[in-house]
Amino acid sequence: MGKTIGVPALPYYCPVCENKLPYWQPFRRDIGNGKSRLEPGGRLCPLCFTFERTRHIVLYLKHFKILEAKPRFLHFAPENILEGRLRAALGSQYVTTDLFKKGVDRKEDITKMTIQTNSFDFIYCSNVLEHIPDDRAAMSELHRVLAPGGTAIIQVPIKEGQKTYEDFSITDPEARFQHFGQADHVRWYGPDIQERLEAAGFEVTPFYMADVLGLPPAELERMNIARKELCHKCVKKK
Ligand SMILES: [Zn+2]
Repeated sequence: MGKTIGVPALPYYCPVCENKLPYWQPFRRDIGNGKSRLEPGGRLCPLCFTFERTRHIVLYLKHFKILEAKPRFLHFAPENILEGRLRAALGSQYVTTDLFKKGVDRKEDITKMTIQTNSFDFIYCSNVLEHIPDDRAAMSELHRVLAPGGTAIIQVPIKEGQKTYEDFSITDPEARFQHFGQADHVRWYGPDIQERLEAAGFEVTPFYMADVLGLPPAELERMNIARKELCHKCVKKK
C-alpha cells in the first residue's frame, strides 16, 4: 500500500466562508507606532480572515434561527463577508453602521445615534465598545434604538478575574497596547461589563458561545471555536 502524496489534509472548517481548511492563521497584532507582532496560535481563517467571534455569531444566528424571523437587524463595524450574507438574507431589514468605515448604510456615532428609538429587533455589536471612551453613552444608545423585546449580542475582549480597567490619561498607542491589549483600545473589560450594560437598561445574560451552540467538542475544535470567550446577550424589556 503506497501512501497518498501531495493531497493536503483539510481537517478544519470555517462556517463563515464555508470552506474546508488546512490550518488556522496566526494574528498579527498592531502594538502601536507602526509596530506589530505575530501572536501565538492560529486564530484567523486563511481564506476569509475572520476571527473566532465571527464564526461564533454565524453559528449563533443559525442555531437560534435568528434570520428566519426576518428581524430588523443593525450591524456595527460590519465584517465584509458577514455583511454580504446578512444582506442577502434580510434585504432592506438589514442596516450596517460605523463612524469611520466606508460603504456602510449609516455613518453613526454610537454614543449619539440619529436612529429613531425602538427601530431594531436585533443588534450585533462586536469589538466596538472597547474603542469608545464614553461606553456608557454607547450602551444607552444601543438600548434606545433596540425595540422592546429585542436582543443585542455584544462582544468585547474580556479579561476574566479582573475588574474593568480604564485610564483615559493613557493615549500613546504602545502604552495602550501594554495596558489594554491593543493600540487603539481605551480599556480592558472584566466580567463587570454586565453591570454597565444593566445600568443602560438591559436584561443581561453572560454566556460562552461554545456552550450554547449545541455542538459536540469535535465540531468546536474543527471550527476553532472552543476558546471560551464571554459574550453578552442583552434584551430590552417589553
Ligand atoms: Zn473563512
